[in-house]
Amino acid sequence: MHRSHPYDDTVHKKGDPDLNKQHETSHHDPTTKHLENPVDSEDSATHDGNVSSELGNIVYGITGLENLGNSCYMSSIIQCINNTIPLSMYFCNEVHLEHVNHDNASTRGVVAEEFGAVVRTLWSGQYRSISYPGLKKVVAQHMKQFQGCIQQDSHEFHIILMDLLHEDLKRNIRKFSERETGDENLSADQAWGNFQMYNESIIKFLFYGQQKSTVRCCKCGKESVTYEVFSDLSLPLPNSSEECSLAECINLYLRGEEISGWNCSSCKEEGHAIKKFDIWRLPPILVIHLKRFYYEDRWRKRLTYVDFPLDLDMHQSTELEEGFVNYKLYAVSNHYGSMEGGHYTAFCKNELYEKWYEFDDDNVSEISSDDVSSKSAYILFYTSVECKI
Ligand SMILES: [Zn+2]
Repeated sequence: MHRSHPYDDTVHKKGDPDLNKQHETSHHDPTTKHLENPVDSEDSATHDGNVSSELGNIVYGITGLENLGNSCYMSSIIQCINNTIPLSMYFCNEVHLEHVNHDNASTRGVVAEEFGAVVRTLWSGQYRSISYPGLKKVVAQHMKQFQGCIQQDSHEFHIILMDLLHEDLKRNIRKFSERETGDENLSADQAWGNFQMYNESIIKFLFYGQQKSTVRCCKCGKESVTYEVFSDLSLPLPNSSEECSLAECINLYLRGEEISGWNCSSCKEEGHAIKKFDIWRLPPILVIHLKRFYYEDRWRKRLTYVDFPLDLDMHQSTELEEGFVNYKLYAVSNHYGSMEGGHYTAFCKNELYEKWYEFDDDNVSEISSDDVSSKSAYILFYTSVECKI
């Protein structure tokens, strides 16, 4: 597939198997010393840099992440994102160093730099497991809830990490306003164009789609349409079934829900309305969050087994005739246990070896593709781009 786009070079770069070429070229990478001297493993384990490593006899991308104290929710997401090949190649080939935004007042580029160092180390093929205190620290500087050692929601971490990377890597640092993208009078293309103008980054290019949101007043029937961007789809699960298909969850999401407190611009009354979504533009990488957690007196978890396909055809769920509609599953963030005391792992397909692996903190083991689907599946990562390493 060819699409003319500034990120084409990174997304479709092929035939460069030397993912660890940072050995020669990296000047920014705090881990360089350790990558150049992998035999010095004892030193690696205790050094004062931002990524420490344990030596092992390893293949590319099959590297665990040491638990930093209930940090499995972070590790699960880092492994899923690390197996997003267009993005990890962008970091491994150090394209991000041309884009990192040191002037962005909120993040100053440090999250992208730390994340890039972790990704390059994970793909260096030299370590059985590594630690990432530097990345945890810079993310926690922006989001205080990630500071300590308390279990957090991997979906929330995913959203925040993506936002921080986007802020660090976008080309135009002026914030866009709601008016410019969510205005009722804008067409889908105008809203998307305005969003793109202020949000050009590899994160936007890979992960952002657009949906049409229609709110219909229950009193007078007046419809209000806006076009919104999304970076993942948060799908509800059916209330009372032990098993359902992903298509059912998507249908439930698209069917819409009743909202209260809607101020109607037509009949000027406040009341109920029906809000529904139509998917308007799908991204190259589609992230699907299964809303297992809900509050009813206390936080509860739905243990529904969601039957999701390895090959996802979104034709049924959209009226799109072009763009990205056929997807392949490449990663799953799993949650086991309850909201308070749980554990996260990741199942990821290594694109180089075309095999699935379970990443459970510092342990990595091969699994069958038949084992990928389980009632612990929490966030699904699908790709529609061919990107060979
Ligand atoms: Zn009305």
